[in-house]
Amino acid sequence: MPLSALEIYKLLPKTNCKECGFPTCLAFAMRVAAKQVELDACPYISEEAKEKLAAASRPPMRLVTVGVGDNKIEVGNETVLFRHDRTFVHEPGLMIRIKDTQPIKEIEETAAQVDGYYVERVGMKLCLNGVALENASGEVETYLKALKAVQANTDLPLILMAKDPKVMAAALENLGDENPLIYAATKDNWSEMVELAKEYKCPLAVYEADGLDELAGLVQQVEEAGVEEIVLDPGTRGFNDSLNVMTQIRRLALKRNFRLFGYPIITFPGEGTNSIEEETILAGQHIAKYGGFIVLEHFNPAQIYPLLTLRLNIFTDPRVPIQMEPGVYEFGEPTPESPLLTTTNFSLTYFSVAGEIEASGVPSWLLVCDSEGMSVLTAWAAGNFDAERIAKDVKRFGVADKISHRKIIIPGLVAVIMGELEEELGGDWKVLVGPKEAMEIPRYLKEVWE
Ligand code: SF4
Repeated sequence: MPLSALEIYKLLPKTNCKECGFPTCLAFAMRVAAKQVELDACPYISEEAKEKLAAASRPPMRLVTVGVGDNKIEVGNETVLFRHDRTFVHEPGLMIRIKDTQPIKEIEETAAQVDGYYVERVGMKLCLNGVALENASGEVETYLKALKAVQANTDLPLILMAKDPKVMAAALENLGDENPLIYAATKDNWSEMVELAKEYKCPLAVYEADGLDELAGLVQQVEEAGVEEIVLDPGTRGFNDSLNVMTQIRRLALKRNFRLFGYPIITFPGEGTNSIEEETILAGQHIAKYGGFIVLEHFNPAQIYPLLTLRLNIFTDPRVPIQMEPGVYEFGEPTPESPLLTTTNFSLTYFSVAGEIEASGVPSWLLVCDSEGMSVLTAWAAGNFDAERIAKDVKRFGVADKISHRKIIIPGLVAVIMGELEEELGGDWKVLVGPKEAMEIPRYLKEVWE
């Protein structure tokens, strides 16, 4: 059971020295109890108290890392059941399954496709996270050949899927220190798989489909044998049962602090569905609730694109709008005579406007004002995109040094600030009212701007 704030407080020095960043030891204790701060923030805790408090300050769900370097994926450490309660912190890894029974050429091609695929959205590059290589043949040599073909075409993290510990051992030996996820320990092979996970210091998936009690029992054995990074596979595959079981696991981990389920879950949506469309929908369900690693059956951009954007939406902190850096952006090769437009720094607004300016083919300047990440009308209503703010950013970013004319085009939605902005800018500045909708920008730049 987690300790209460009062129980934690009793173990603190009670000097209220504030070095932890909190005004009192009790305030610090309350944050530790809520798992919002690490114990290490207090430099004066005794070793004895540290030991007692370690369990209380551990996040309810363990962070599991697969892969190494820039491509590694970290999953877990979630603290809420619902995104709107705070935020989900580590997006699930989207992986593509390759079987060692596929022709080598096909394996190479798929691995290269997984490696190279990305979607650009609101200035971010959304990518797949790796390959799950299955030992469908049951043979060591075939698996190693397939592994070599995958490795030659991608550095992305790997899930090694093999039932036979001998096959797993051979693959791990070939991989070196690439930190793959071992899939999976079962009640038949868990002790051998545990030894491999310990020897190669890799995370280990635990598969048990006979029920949650049995899964917890197997996880306990694996934990007691010394494996720290675990991934759960409760064996449920369809829409209803996976939603039910995965929600139970997450609830038990977060609400009841049931440590044996405090790990990410791996899912295989293609195994519980009959078509690629159903697989996509189920994968979407797993992104929302509560997949940690989601293994898709095929590389199919039409399926992957919506899943990547859904994942971005679900795992974006709802309290922080996606923002652009305020400043002056160039489109084409603008000259001092080129038009100057302005908009807010809400990413979706920026990319709508930027896309249309690019489409117009008219070299332009775009002043992106600091609207605290709000869209045009919302920012105007909140006072974050008014005449004063725009004029301030015109000066801050030295706009007058870049253009020879003194004209600025404001979004049609805030035409009302035209006069006020001319006053704020002073001198010979002229404010032009541009289109209300971004899609009208190309016509405006070609036919109206002079
Ligand atoms: Fe108390 Fe430690 Fe914080 Fe000082 S640093 S106020 S002793 S909890």
